[in-house]
Amino acid sequence: MSAFLDARRLPNGTVLTPDLAIIGGGPAGIALALALKDSPFSIALLESGGMNFDPKVQSLYRGAESGLKYVALDAGRLRYLGGSSNHWGGYCRPLDAIDFETRDWVPYSGWPFGQAALAPYLPRAQSLLEGGAYLYDRLREGPLAEPLLPLGPGGVYTSFFQFSQWRGNDQHLPTHFGLRYADDLRRIANLQVILNANVTGLRLAADARALDRLDVATLSGRRFAVKPRHTVLACGAMENARLLLASNDVMKPGVGNQNDLVGRFFADHAIPRDTATLVVFGGDLASYYKATQDARGAHFRATFSPTESFKRARRLLGSLATVEQRVELDALGRAAVTIASSALGVDGSNAKAYSLGCGLEIAPDPARRLTLTGERDALGLPRLKLHMTVSDQDFARYRETLAEFGRQLLAAKSGLLRLDRKTRNEWLSVIDWGDHHMGTTRMHADPREGVVDANSQVHGIANLFVAGSSVFPTYGSSNPTLNLLALTLRLADHLKGLFR
Ligand SMILES: Cc1cc2nc3c(=O)[nH]c(=O)nc-3n(C[C@H](O)[C@H](O)[C@H](O)COP(=O)(O)OP(=O)(O)OC[C@H]3O[C@@H](n4cnc5c(N)ncnc54)[C@H](O)[C@@H]3O)c2cc1C
Repeated sequence: MSAFLDARRLPNGTVLTPDLAIIGGGPAGIALALALKDSPFSIALLESGGMNFDPKVQSLYRGAESGLKYVALDAGRLRYLGGSSNHWGGYCRPLDAIDFETRDWVPYSGWPFGQAALAPYLPRAQSLLEGGAYLYDRLREGPLAEPLLPLGPGGVYTSFFQFSQWRGNDQHLPTHFGLRYADDLRRIANLQVILNANVTGLRLAADARALDRLDVATLSGRRFAVKPRHTVLACGAMENARLLLASNDVMKPGVGNQNDLVGRFFADHAIPRDTATLVVFGGDLASYYKATQDARGAHFRATFSPTESFKRARRLLGSLATVEQRVELDALGRAAVTIASSALGVDGSNAKAYSLGCGLEIAPDPARRLTLTGERDALGLPRLKLHMTVSDQDFARYRETLAEFGRQLLAAKSGLLRLDRKTRNEWLSVIDWGDHHMGTTRMHADPREGVVDANSQVHGIANLFVAGSSVFPTYGSSNPTLNLLALTLRLADHLKGLFR
């Protein structure tokens, strides 16, 4: 087993020359290193943190905000081996086919390839995050111990999350990539993991067509360089943009930013809580709507999604409406149940009510962006500022999905739905965010419209690649990690080809 190297022990001025440098040891960086084990080239994985949380390292993530209130930049991510997987929720779901399409009702939409390009990598990604059998919406086919909630024909259906579940503990925690894979990384002969190593600059060759070297610094004051043949930036969607923007000595707007796209199109999933009340006339809902459940080798939970054809017909985006908790109906709600159930000729006397939350896709917006500020961190790197936005149309689209859901409940005589948030202010008052950072180095075949190409290579820079959800041009409503891991495994195959 090779020990991890501590950058604080490297002499000043050291120059390392691996074939491949991976910057960042979160899920993307770790998955890439694991996928490249036994490759005939040497790899250095440079990780800013150590094996545990350290407030001094974490404060390198501090930043500023404007616009809509959002999570503080040093609160929604973690800076040590394993990255944000050290406190993620483990919710997983593959992107839908429509999420990859260019849609005329979603400006800036469309990936340079379709769902089929990621499909072969998804089961391997699922296995890396210990998600059990790869089933998702095939869980609908059963057998499940309890029936699906009956819905009339229409645009909303029961879909499924599955969960990352680290097998090494009995608390059902999701996989923490640093802890879970540290020993596997140590066993990889062609890999050197270097902890406490902060990349502070991506230095381009004078012709700006290739990356020449990486500047690396430790908080203890050491400075050294890495001169790899190829580099993959895997620092999470905020920090990927920050490093590209701050590396502006040769390309003044920043590396890959000749078209002013780096840092723009930041996205997350809005998670409005208590958006609606779901009433089930017959009483109880199947338990997998209310909590996670194990069956058929999967740990899963049900949610309600708009179908692809409904999204297409009504020009909508994705949403995942999830049952939050049992609630008591007020007098108006009880009256609505009595009137609706008797009009439908069903027994509503045992009706139960549940609050519904949601994970909501928001539309791409170039004004929702990260820029550099004048303030610098302890290593001299400019800090970030995030300008956050969300449009009324994002909420309106979800309201339309909820209205359809309500219509289908009545059609099936199984229940009703009451919309609890109407105005923008009401929506904003119940919004959380998923900390699913996406979009800041968007992928597009055309360099004028994207930062990286279909192979995740930074346009115009032959030996620089980006891994992680910063490359997502449109986001879907699915949680990003399963999908970014699949994309990373695809990138690993591409890199193997380059070294052949
Ligand atoms: C509270 C929370 C809950 C979440 N729940 C879910 C969920 O349920 N489902 C889901 O799919 N996703 C979830 N996520 C998102 C998920 O954690 C991310 O998608 C995932 O961690 C991204 O992986 P990554 O490797 O791209 O980036 P990160 O996890 O951000 O890792 C980046 C790594 O790069 C290192 N680094 C940063 N800067 C430098 C530098 N300059 N030099 C060297 N190293 C550097 C960091 O220390 C870190 O280890 C959640 C996130 C949070 C915060």
